[in-house]
Amino acid sequence: MKAAVITKDHKIEVKDTKLRPLKYGEALLEMEYCGVCHTDLHVKNGDFGDETGRITGHEGIGIVKEIGEGVTSLKVGDRASVAWFFKGCGHCEYCVSGNETLCRNVENAGYTVDGAMAEQCIVVADYSVKVPDGLDPAIASSITCAGVTTYKAVKVSKIEPGQWLAIYGLGGLGNLALQYAKNVFNAKVIAIDVNDEQLAFAKELGADLIINPKNEDAAKVIQEKVGGAHATVVTAVAKSAFNSAVEAVRAGGRVVAVGLPPENMDLSIPRLVLDGIEVLGSLVGTREDLKESFQFAAEGKVKPKVTKRKVEEINEIFDEMEHGKFTGRMVVDFTHH
Ligand code: NAD
Ligand code: ZN
Ligand code: ZN
Repeated sequence: MKAAVITKDHKIEVKDTKLRPLKYGEALLEMEYCGVCHTDLHVKNGDFGDETGRITGHEGIGIVKEIGEGVTSLKVGDRASVAWFFKGCGHCEYCVSGNETLCRNVENAGYTVDGAMAEQCIVVADYSVKVPDGLDPAIASSITCAGVTTYKAVKVSKIEPGQWLAIYGLGGLGNLALQYAKNVFNAKVIAIDVNDEQLAFAKELGADLIINPKNEDAAKVIQEKVGGAHATVVTAVAKSAFNSAVEAVRAGGRVVAVGLPPENMDLSIPRLVLDGIEVLGSLVGTREDLKESFQFAAEGKVKPKVTKRKVEEINEIFDEMEHGKFTGRMVVDFTHH
């Protein structure tokens, strides 16, 4: 089968690969779509270590073709996901307390185990979440990482109806953060991006205020116009956005870190203490979060913008992503193979 494999020189090679036989509890998916997440770009570039030889991809949707011994949660013909949270140990303090993505023995698709950007993918059946009927598989692929991650981040922000949420970065993740925040949590949204096209897209999706930090000081504008945001979700891949987010919240506000630029942010201790600010990281979402975020998409409350591409275009797609050349998500189409 064809698979998108990370090479030593930080590119992707599409090559013919053979999968091993299924083990106990596993299922084989015939892939339909796999979205391209910026995390795949970090992994491919070696930002989190050398991953040469790994099959990339963790926004995968496929149809169960075969199930291994002991599988009861999936059956042949089901449509199911391949997510970054590929598997937890199932018995540690995190796995049993609703924080399974923090499991210390976690496996991540396209990073510690082979991922979804291939014609077929092996999943651990109990960790592969079923896609609800009526949800288009290409749309569902975007929910599998971008959707669930931002849905969870908005939950973590504890934003309430009518409150102001500032979203830094309106790319593949950010535009979905905006849609969940507005259409599910009923918040008011400020969209901040250095790219005017992403801002125009955010406006179309109903952003209440848009700011380009290249032209004005985002935190200053937010403090002046709304008295500071109640919370921020930062998906931007730049530390300047994280620093601005800390300045943009009102006292008691929450800064939810989602983007993964491999850098440090500044954090003024007096600002943290005297203004009672919270800064916290949010990592993808649990299987239950994914189920919920799929359901909101199935109901049409959240509509990912997806563009279907061929797997052979994967290096171009990463290049376009790095240079901010598209809005929404690029999704590799495996339905025509
Ligand atoms: P993307 O490339 O589609 O979007 C990034 C956006 O950030 C772009 O619109 C870009 O213009 C904008 N941006 C860049 N610099 C900015 C700045 N200084 N201020 C405001 N906006 C700025 O990427 P994506 O797929 O949305 O992923 C975003 C980040 O989130 C990546 O670092 C990715 O690894 C990370 N991520 C984290 C999780 C998690 O669980 N925490 C899950 C998925 C992705
Ligand atoms: Zn665990
Ligand atoms: Zn991702």
